[in-house]
Amino acid sequence: MLQPSILTLNAGSSSLKFSVFAAGDAEPTRLYRGAFDRGAAPDRVTVRSHDGDQEQLPLDEPGALASAFRAVLAWCERAEDLGPVQAVGHRIVHGGLDFAAPTELTDAAIAKLRVLEPLAPLHQPHNLDGVLVAREAFPQAMQIGCFDTAFHRTHPFVNDTFGLPHRFYDEGVRRYGFHGLSYDYVSHAVAAQWPELAHGRVVIAHLGNGASMCAVRDGKSVGSTMGFSALDGLPMGTRCGQIDPGVLLYLMQTHGMDADAITDLLYKQSGLKGLSGIGNDMRELLASDDPRARQAIDYFVFRIRREVGGMTAVLGGLDALVFTGGIGENAAPIRAEVCAGFEWLGLTFDDAANDHNAARISGDGSAVQVLVVPTDEEAVIARASAQFLTGG
Ligand code: ADP
Repeated sequence: MLQPSILTLNAGSSSLKFSVFAAGDAEPTRLYRGAFDRGAAPDRVTVRSHDGDQEQLPLDEPGALASAFRAVLAWCERAEDLGPVQAVGHRIVHGGLDFAAPTELTDAAIAKLRVLEPLAPLHQPHNLDGVLVAREAFPQAMQIGCFDTAFHRTHPFVNDTFGLPHRFYDEGVRRYGFHGLSYDYVSHAVAAQWPELAHGRVVIAHLGNGASMCAVRDGKSVGSTMGFSALDGLPMGTRCGQIDPGVLLYLMQTHGMDADAITDLLYKQSGLKGLSGIGNDMRELLASDDPRARQAIDYFVFRIRREVGGMTAVLGGLDALVFTGGIGENAAPIRAEVCAGFEWLGLTFDDAANDHNAARISGDGSAVQVLVVPTDEEAVIARASAQFLTGG
């Protein structure tokens, strides 16, 4: 008999990524992964099997997320190697104070999570809209939310608070941190492959369109560059990263900007895109000879290096620096620039290994292991959903 399936969903503003897992007795096994990209290919969903076969599912309503879900559902029902979809596990970016573990996404839970939409406007509304559409498409399946903030709930007070009157902390104005599903995956992968690092002092840099860093000790987050919202910390594809709050006051008082205008500026017009005036794609910036592209990259690298220093101080030393995310996994020049000049940490670098995106790119005898670990947020969602279903 076929084992039931778990569908994992990561619904964004213009794309939907999903995977289908067989809910095995131990770890769920990925059978398929797929994507719908409203911008690049609005008329179809692409599904790939683990052995590389590819299928295109045409949409009855091109561009519509609901139509993409219907196509995925119909495909799941006719796929001969899939059991019934028992759970749909969703990536939800912000869990706020109330959601620190996987949770069934009831109407009440969704209403609480909607309140957090202004804190992650590029993701949270789309994550939650995805839940509503998935509920309709898969009415027999349990909808389970897995939260990017959950991994960081182990932060000590000093890494969790701002210097505001205490009542704001009590109200939930805290440094939540994001990319937690990725950090969960990567920290487990590091511990599995390099057991000597399982209890080590590790900094993970998740560098993609969204970018953040996490200080991990004993497998637990003790600090993150992102804060209350997904804006803080490193500059990102289109987000500004750390900014003096005085700049916001200036924009309001001198430029007459309101909350909507500032939201648009900080989330969509800043970061690599704003600094370069070219765009948010790191490949394009690395290939450009425009000095502003170079400045944008320099600022990105500078902020990462600064955070490596700060997190090393917080951890009391550094055993490993791990790169992940689209830039972290693929952009060898960025990794080389980040690691240059860290001899004072005992870090030596293997340029040839770096050029090949090898798993270990530090030199032999380096006091700091430098690693490249591809992330897999959906594997974490599938595992958490399976455990939730079995009450584990
Ligand atoms: P998201 O945060 O949207 O999941 P990704 O993790 O997919 O983003 O990362 C997207 C970023 O990775 C883009 O800036 C893209 O240019 C960059 N990237 C992907 N492949 C490469 C590469 N080979 N070299 C440099 N940058 C790359």
